[in-house]
This record gives sequence, C-alpha cells and structure tokens, in this order.
Amino acid sequence: MKRRDLILGSGAAIAGASILAPGAALSAGAIALPDDLATERLITVTAVKTRRRVVALTFDDGPHPVHTPQLLDMLKARRIRATFYVIGRNVARYPDIVKRMVDEGHEIGNHTWRHPFLSKLGKASVLRELDRTSEAIYKAVQRIPVTMRPPYGAMTRSQRQMVAAERDMPTILWSVDPEDWRRPGSDVVARRILSGAAPGAIILSHDIHGPTIRAMPATLDGLRAQGFRFQTVSMILGHRDWTKLRWRLPRVVAAKN
Ligand SMILES: [Zn+2]
Repeated sequence: MKRRDLILGSGAAIAGASILAPGAALSAGAIALPDDLATERLITVTAVKTRRRVVALTFDDGPHPVHTPQLLDMLKARRIRATFYVIGRNVARYPDIVKRMVDEGHEIGNHTWRHPFLSKLGKASVLRELDRTSEAIYKAVQRIPVTMRPPYGAMTRSQRQMVAAERDMPTILWSVDPEDWRRPGSDVVARRILSGAAPGAIILSHDIHGPTIRAMPATLDGLRAQGFRFQTVSMILGHRDWTKLRWRLPRVVAAKN
C-alpha cells in the first residue's frame, strides 16, 4: 500500500501528483530534475524557486542527546521552525527529543534507519531503511514524515523515482551546504550559510556537531537581519504545516507492497 492511501481528509494535498499545486511558485529549473515534469510527481528538490525571502533550515543525523536540545532552545527563543532529518535508530533512542521537536513546531524528515549509502542497496533494503524510520517516528510523535533525505545525498535517479512512487516521499537535497561536518569552525559555518542563503534556499547542517550549534545564534540572527523568514520543508514547498495532517496507523506503511 502506498502512503497516499493512508492520508485522511484535506491533508491529501501533501502527497502524490498534487504535491505541486497548480500555479505554485515553483519551477522545474530550481527544484527538480526533468523527471518531475514528465511524471508530475515531485521527486527531487534542492531549492524552491520563489521571490519570497524564505528559507528552510534542515538539520541532519540527530537527535543528539546534548546538542539537539541546545539547538531547540535557540530556535524556540527566536520562534524559528526547522526541519530535522533524523536517523531512525537515534529516534528510537531519544524519542522524547523528537517529541519536543514536534511540540515546538518543527518538522521531522526521514534520514534512514542506520545512515547507509542507499545507492549501494537494493529496493527492498532502501524501503526497509525508510519504513523502520517512519515507524520509529510515528511511535515517538504519532506523525509520519512526508519527505526523506538520503545520507550523503547518495541515491540514484531510479531510486529517487522508486521512493516517490512507492512511498510518495520526495527526496529533499539542499542548495546551501556549509560543510559543517568537516568542522571548519563556527564562524565559517555561519558565514557560509549567510553568504549562501537566497530566497527558497534549503540549508543543510547537522545538529550532532557542537561547533554547528554554536554557529546558530549568529546564523539565525544574521538570516533574520537579511530579511529571511523560516519555514519547514513542507511549508516552503507550499503545503500546510505537516503536524496538522492526520494519518492512519503506521503499521500499514510497512505492509508488503
Ligand atoms: Zn546524514
């Protein structure tokens, strides 16, 4: 069963072919590979084409027991929403942090169970990585993620098409990468994000590194000083707040196709 079968009510707009609303301020050049046009299904997103000064902050690889709560404090103090691409086994370990994310308005995305190179895995293994993670997220917050991000950005085009077809999850990449995992220092991370930010940008960083967290006050305040507002990934794609969506029980997600 595909995930769109699980969607209730008006939340259906989040999934399937309708994910690109007619007339939405999106264009293929900025957001997608040519496949998206051919299939009318959103498959791969690196940024959103818009003139509005909005960005989506995304944080990968958490939750981390120390760093993530510190980041959540910083976001909360500024009333900023972000999207967390969480690793499933970390969700199982720290479900309370994921619950806090959702309670404070953030979006949760699927970043696989054990962070493998998906491009080296077969279809069944890829889906298992995603389904196990969606189930852990559902267990923690009673919501199912509506987008995914492959570890290392590593997924083949046919795999991205497969995940879109089988799970209605677009693959969310990024347009701004401060390479914070190389630990260049907080100042450099902040400077790279501030200089890379543009309307519709999707900004990548990792909430498991202390220097990244310490870069955030200057980054967040700097982006705001540049006139940027902050939206979650679903919101910047033109959808409603993902927490307002209602879903059926998650076990169906893992049912055999
Ligand atoms: Zn990652």
